[in-house]
Amino acid sequence: MIVLSQEDIASKVKAIGKRNPAYAEVIQWAGELLSETVRASGKFRPPQLSLGQERSSEAWSQGRSLLDPGELSLDWEQARALYRRLVGLVETRESGRRQVEGLLQALVEDQEGAPGLLKAALTSDLKAIETAAQALEIDPPVLTLLLRLSLRPALLDVARDALERLDLRRWTHGHCPVCGSAPILADLSGEGGKRRLHCSLCETAWPYPRLRCPFCENDNREDLSYLRAENEEGLRVDLCSGCGHYLKTIDLRELAGPVIVPLDDVATWHLDLIAQQNLEDEEANLSRAT
Ligand SMILES: [Zn+2]
Ligand SMILES: [Zn+2]
Repeated sequence: MIVLSQEDIASKVKAIGKRNPAYAEVIQWAGELLSETVRASGKFRPPQLSLGQERSSEAWSQGRSLLDPGELSLDWEQARALYRRLVGLVETRESGRRQVEGLLQALVEDQEGAPGLLKAALTSDLKAIETAAQALEIDPPVLTLLLRLSLRPALLDVARDALERLDLRRWTHGHCPVCGSAPILADLSGEGGKRRLHCSLCETAWPYPRLRCPFCENDNREDLSYLRAENEEGLRVDLCSGCGHYLKTIDLRELAGPVIVPLDDVATWHLDLIAQQNLEDEEANLSRAT
């Protein structure tokens, strides 16, 4: 895991804006949000990991992630404060202003002493986040991004701690070895394009075979395909017709690294749309054929 500097963020923002000018403005903004999380990182009380929360080494290599994020007790006060500062940055953008009220409303409801939607982000309950976003008339991807970013300093601390004790070469699964969440991005690098997956929550990266779906562990090549982004070298989406999941992939042999999960995710939102459309079309074709 890399420790990001403000310079890393600035140069990534610049590279993305150059690669795809349609993203220049939104990525500038995402960069500001991310910088705020880096500034906040020293303020969080270190998460308490009680021994019982950690799996045995055997259970771990069999696929039980080290931690269960739903059980983590984080510094909710700092997460809340960071969330409010991020909403403040949304307010500075003209297109964001209409969402501010809804975004502030989103953290009002508590669940067992913690903001319910931060808990939902922690357990990757994207359905709950989407439902809340619709009710509050805000964009679901913006709400998801803000929630994840407000947890980011705490989770990166947890992951950094955990990684010192784990040998990732022994992990052969498609979900995150630290927190069990699904990958949000993959990268390819080196000779033959070795693949790494990047966790959607704690941003841990771990190696995974290239020709296997991390969501259903299917390696039947007939089910696996990919789409390339138009006019963008080095970006693609891997699709699995077996389980209907997809994964956005950055080829670091063609695009400069490092992968910065929150920024590379935002800069590939168009690939999410293409992939979702493609999988929906495929499903429609299948149901027509049967
Ligand atoms: Zn993780
Ligand atoms: Zn699959």
